[in-house]
Amino acid sequence: MLKYYFTFFILLSINAVTGQSAPKTVIAKSGDGIYSLLRDNNIDLSYVDEFIKLNKTKLTADNTLILGKAYDLPTIQKDSISIVEVTKLDSVSSASLKPIIKEMSLFGKDYSNVIVENDTLKNAVYYLISGHGGPDPGATTTYDSKLISEDEYAYDVTLRLARKLIAKGATVYIIVKDKNDGIRDERVLEVDYDEVCYPNNTIPRNQKLRLQQRTNTVNNLYLKHKGAAAYQRLIVTHVDSRSVGKNIDVFFYHHKNSDNGKRLAEHIHKTFKQKYAKHQPNRIYSGTVSTRSSLYLIKNTMPPVVYIELGNIRNKKDQKRILNYENREALANWIHKGLLADYESHKD
Ligand SMILES: [Zn+2]
Repeated sequence: MLKYYFTFFILLSINAVTGQSAPKTVIAKSGDGIYSLLRDNNIDLSYVDEFIKLNKTKLTADNTLILGKAYDLPTIQKDSISIVEVTKLDSVSSASLKPIIKEMSLFGKDYSNVIVENDTLKNAVYYLISGHGGPDPGATTTYDSKLISEDEYAYDVTLRLARKLIAKGATVYIIVKDKNDGIRDERVLEVDYDEVCYPNNTIPRNQKLRLQQRTNTVNNLYLKHKGAAAYQRLIVTHVDSRSVGKNIDVFFYHHKNSDNGKRLAEHIHKTFKQKYAKHQPNRIYSGTVSTRSSLYLIKNTMPPVVYIELGNIRNKKDQKRILNYENREALANWIHKGLLADYESHKD
């Protein structure tokens, strides 16, 4: 880990000394995507928009890299690397400048170290529920003659989102969790049945009991945090849209009587509309915000809630999208951006 930071620092120092940013170019190899390219070059994934801007003419309509083409890497802004410089200093002397790195084994070995970039969300508490889990895999289908299930994909997006929120200093409760899955970059996420409910409770088979269990868990934590943390939000994710149509998009639901829930859903929806307009201008985004107050979780949980349908795992187009981990990362990133916007403008 230290070596990684060190190398990074040297590169940045050279830029700082020469006062210019000689753009580095890389050739797209087989299997490369924007995210993997950035990650391989130690560039934070928040630079994805910048990368697209720089290379607009060399990308396909849906922002796929073209094999063998040369791409310019974004120049890293100085303010975003302060933590890297601190690490370097720390290796020399002062322990007080130690960056905060949280070790989260739940994210799996490749993603377990979370660098806390700032404390933007230090007064926010998030409850993340990925749909189904335990004995209930949710919607299932086959891909490449292998069984795939809704709960594994919802969980992967949820973990990616959790990691981003923790990096902004938020308190995050991952309500449905699996200690040996972690964030997975594979297309086929193996179906298992060992998810538990926070902190470590077996998930019942009966649907009503299952929903009650996670509802009670969230409500108890909510009451515990109430007062100290005014801003608490619940994000529920599913991949089994009820909507019919050829192109099933990402939909958002809230309780009809919750202004905060409505605003939360609208902020995320707005981010999605902007991102679609930017990254897929030829495609019309038809996802909407609406009420669905009769859903058990929306009806019975205390924090303002947004219930997100990320698509339908049985729909071929949605499936193609959700099986690509870069898209799962993008979904998490867009939800994260919407949550940041909501937090910035909250009044409660
Ligand atoms: Zn579902």
